[in-house]
Amino acid sequence: MIRRRSDKEMDKMHQANAIVLQTLEILQDALEPGISTSELDRIAAANLAKEGATAAFKGYRGFPASLCVSINEQVVHGIPSPDKILENGDIVSLDFGAVVDGYFGDNAVTAAVGDTTPELEKLLKITEEAMFKGIQAMMPGNHVSDIGYAVQSHAERHGYSVVRDFVGHGIGRALHEDPPVPNYVQGGRDPKLSAGMCLAIEPMVNTGSHEVRTLSDKWTVVTEDGGYSAHFERSVAITNDGPWILAQPRTVYSEGAKVV
Ligand code: MG
Repeated sequence: MIRRRSDKEMDKMHQANAIVLQTLEILQDALEPGISTSELDRIAAANLAKEGATAAFKGYRGFPASLCVSINEQVVHGIPSPDKILENGDIVSLDFGAVVDGYFGDNAVTAAVGDTTPELEKLLKITEEAMFKGIQAMMPGNHVSDIGYAVQSHAERHGYSVVRDFVGHGIGRALHEDPPVPNYVQGGRDPKLSAGMCLAIEPMVNTGSHEVRTLSDKWTVVTEDGGYSAHFERSVAITNDGPWILAQPRTVYSEGAKVV
């Protein structure tokens, strides 16, 4: 069942998402060769405590940390560890969630550690752009598939593939709510978008094939062919006037336009 959120509920989600994005900015500043992924998790959890919010991921289906850190060929759900040390040239997906008064926020960024290459810079840029193209499609009257079409066509136009096995999702009083939001076009159920729906848009874009597998730790998802993967995410509310990126003060995303 797809739930619609009131303005008051969206304001709570704005609080949670603003804390998440602020935390991701702090984490990006901390990215440097030599830091461990568990130190990043510690920084994230400390900022959450300082802001009076609680972690959305810790304990979710048994996930052991507050932050997901996925390096290079890792797609999503990497578990922080003191043994995982970032190296110059890595790309790192930081995926973080918070809860404020029972309302959830979920956002992710991928960033380079130290020196990077034009090829990896392009992967990050196109993946982030694909996310914003998906957000642009979040107009009342459009369908969930318009989001997937916008994301997939942008990524594939640049020679990348879009992960199928993991998708975006509704968000609100739970981390994952209805509907699933694929980053590609698939047949079947295709709900109409309407004001009050809140969705996490999160393209996972690979340099090689779209196929992925889960490691024996039962969490870390990696590309099947070992190619690089990038991941960006924003929780977004649909208003009568268009999409509101919930981490930001209430405003309609400026590129908002109807997808025909
Ligand atoms: Mg998510």
